[in-house]
Amino acid sequence: MLAFWIRADLDEAAFRGDELRGFGPATLDLFKKEKLLKRGRDLQVVECGDCGNPHLEDVDVITDSPDGIPRAYIACGAGRVSVRLDDLQVWAIDYDRLARLTRSALGLGGRIVQVAADRVWLLGSARLANKTRDVFLVRGIGWPDGLQLLVGNARLSTSPCPLILCLNRVPDDADWHGHERVVMSLSEFDWLQCDRSTLLARTTEILREHAGSLVDAETPSESETGNKVSRSIGSAVAVNALLALKDKKGWTVEQLSIQIGTTARTFQNFCKTSKVRNSVFRTMAERLETSPEELLKGHFPDRQE
Ligand SMILES: [Zn+2]
Repeated sequence: MLAFWIRADLDEAAFRGDELRGFGPATLDLFKKEKLLKRGRDLQVVECGDCGNPHLEDVDVITDSPDGIPRAYIACGAGRVSVRLDDLQVWAIDYDRLARLTRSALGLGGRIVQVAADRVWLLGSARLANKTRDVFLVRGIGWPDGLQLLVGNARLSTSPCPLILCLNRVPDDADWHGHERVVMSLSEFDWLQCDRSTLLARTTEILREHAGSLVDAETPSESETGNKVSRSIGSAVAVNALLALKDKKGWTVEQLSIQIGTTARTFQNFCKTSKVRNSVFRTMAERLETSPEELLKGHFPDRQE
């Protein structure tokens, strides 16, 4: 499914027929049932994969074959090579459908408004994690003009504490994360192809965590809170040990996050504040086959994969 999100965040957000077959039947059924892809103009030029010497050729479609079944060919050397008609198909991601699916998974009401053509959709508003928030879907948030979408769009830039959904990577630019904005990637966890309610559940969790990390940042001294039970835990040593593990294994932040049972967003917050919710920290320790006490000291067994 990651291949879908990566493609969805590209300018050329379409799949060729032969690429689609790589998704497998369950995902193809989902695309079909939800009408997530719409047929574009067929390819007119394809690469010859027949002679071992790739070359681009115009496609010749013959519709008046003796048996009435259309066939496609390209020239190769002195002869011609037949091409599967399926392979000529181009299927583009339908963002309006994706926007609607996302809205319904989050239980948002109202109409979807495109606030920047093909790039930003206001999916609706809802009370999420104790605040009324606008929910936006942004395509190409990391494109060179990505920040322009925010700066140049009053509806988006003036929205208080919005939830901003992107398709692949969460951008690093501080502007996207200021003013109580929460940016989250729809690719961060599985929801589209399985239980859609996962999206709302995880989103609420992330928003709560975000609110929690803001509170932690404002009250850094835990000793002052006396014997009140702290909701979050962590240490810079633990963060550094996890980052060292990531580098040693050659993992991305996303891969490390999966290994330690959390999300890239939560892990990045952990790096920033050295604190995460107790339950998250316990899960990390468990996944690393150690105890929370040991993880606080940056200790966990060296695992061989
Ligand atoms: Zn050839």
